[in-house]
Amino acid sequence: MPPTDAPHHLDSPIQAFVDALHARFAGLTDGRVADYIPELAKADASKFGIAIATVDGRVYEAGDTRAPFTIQSISKPLVYGVALEDCGAERVRASIGVEPSGDAFNSISLEAGTGRPLNPMINAGAIATSSLVQGADRDTRLARVVGALSAYAGRPLAIDEAVFESERSTGHRNRAIGHLLRNHGILADDPEPALELYFRQCSVVVDARDLALVAATLANGGVNPATGQRAVAAEHLGAILSVMTTCGMYDFAGEWVARVGMPAKSGVGGGIVAVLPGQLGIGVYSPALDARGNSVRGVKVCEAISAELGLHFLQPPRVAGVAVRARYDGAQVRSKRRRTGAEAALLDRHGASIVVHELQGDLRFATLEPVIRALSEDTPAPAFAVLDFKRVAHADAAAVRLLARLVEAFGRRGAHLVFSRVRRGSPFDALAAEVDAHHV
Ligand code: GLU
Repeated sequence: MPPTDAPHHLDSPIQAFVDALHARFAGLTDGRVADYIPELAKADASKFGIAIATVDGRVYEAGDTRAPFTIQSISKPLVYGVALEDCGAERVRASIGVEPSGDAFNSISLEAGTGRPLNPMINAGAIATSSLVQGADRDTRLARVVGALSAYAGRPLAIDEAVFESERSTGHRNRAIGHLLRNHGILADDPEPALELYFRQCSVVVDARDLALVAATLANGGVNPATGQRAVAAEHLGAILSVMTTCGMYDFAGEWVARVGMPAKSGVGGGIVAVLPGQLGIGVYSPALDARGNSVRGVKVCEAISAELGLHFLQPPRVAGVAVRARYDGAQVRSKRRRTGAEAALLDRHGASIVVHELQGDLRFATLEPVIRALSEDTPAPAFAVLDFKRVAHADAAAVRLLARLVEAFGRRGAHLVFSRVRRGSPFDALAAEVDAHHV
C-alpha cells in the first residue's frame, strides 16, 4: 500500500528538469531591461518563465509563464511567413535578402546598389516584410497579421496600445529606415502604413507559454499542436526556419548556432523562441537583456536545454534507422505450400534470383540507400526482387522518387521489382503515381 498522501501519478522527470532549470537560473540577475522605448523600461526584471511544448501539444512550464509581455522581434519570422503566403517566395526575395548581416537589429544594412535589406530579421527587412502583407485596407492587413500570430499561439492575441504608442512616438530610427526603403523603391508607397503595421505587430502581447506553442507550431510543420489549426503553409516553413537559424539572434547568431543549435528568435521584450523541427518548441521570458539585446536568462536556459536534452540540430540521433528488417532469397525460404516436383525443381533452379527485402520504419535517403545499394551491387543481379512494405510507416518525397527510379532501372534490364503489401494513402499513393507516370 502506498502512503495515503502519495500523489496519484509519477513525478515526471521532464517537469522536474524544467523546475530545476528555473531554480538554477532564477538567481542570475545580469543584464538590463530595454529602455530605448519608454514603455519597455517598465518591465519587471525579476519575471522569469520557461515553457517547453511538444509537437503533440503537451506543455511543461515553470515560473512566470503567464506573465504578459510584448512579442517584439519574435513577430518578424511569423510575419515573414504571412508575406510569403500573400506574395509568394519570388516576390518576397526580390525585396528582402536572406544573408545574415552580423549587425544589430536596428542597423541600416541595405545591399549596396539595390537598397534591398539583407534579411527579414533586421528592422529594415522586417519593415519591408510588413509592407508585403496583403489586404484592402490597414485594418484588414492588421487583422491578417494578428490572426496569423494568434493561430501560432492557439488563442486570440491582442495589442498593448501603450507599447504601440510608445513605439510609434519614439521610432524615429525605424521611420528613417522606412524612408530609405522608400527611396530605393523597396517600399512602393508612403512608408507610414508599413511602419504602423510593424509597430503594431511588435506590440502584440504574449506569454512564455504562447511562445512555446508558437515554436511547437513551427516544429510541427506549421500546425498548432494544441488546436490543430494551421498557422502557415508548410511550403514556407523552410524559409522561415532558415532565416531564424542564420539571423534570429541579432549579432549573436553564429555563437547561438554553435552553443544551442536551434532556429530561434529573440525580442527586446525579453522573449526567446527556439525550435527543434519535429520535436519541440521552447518559449522563455526574462526581460533583462545582454548587450546584444538577447534575454540573459533566456540564452542560458536554451543552452542548458539543448545540452541536457541533446537537441543541437547538427547532432541528430546517430543511427539513421534501419530499413531492412530481413532479406532472403527464394532458395532459402519456401512457403509451406505443397508443390509438384516440377515446381520445386524450378524453385531450386531459379530461387536464388528472387530476392525479398522486408522493409520497416521510415524510408528516406539514409534508410533507403542501403536497400538500393544491395539491389544494385548484388551479383548476379536479381531477376526478380520484392520489397515488402508491410512495416513501412512513412516514405518521404525523395524516397518515393528514388523508388520510382529503381523500378525503371530494373525495367531497363528486363528484370522485375515488385512492391508488396503497400498501404493505401499518402505517401504511397504518390509512389504509385510516380511509378505510373514513368511507365506509360
Ligand atoms: N520594437 C522594436 C524596434 O523595432 C523591435 C526590436 C526588437 O525586438 O528587436 O525598435
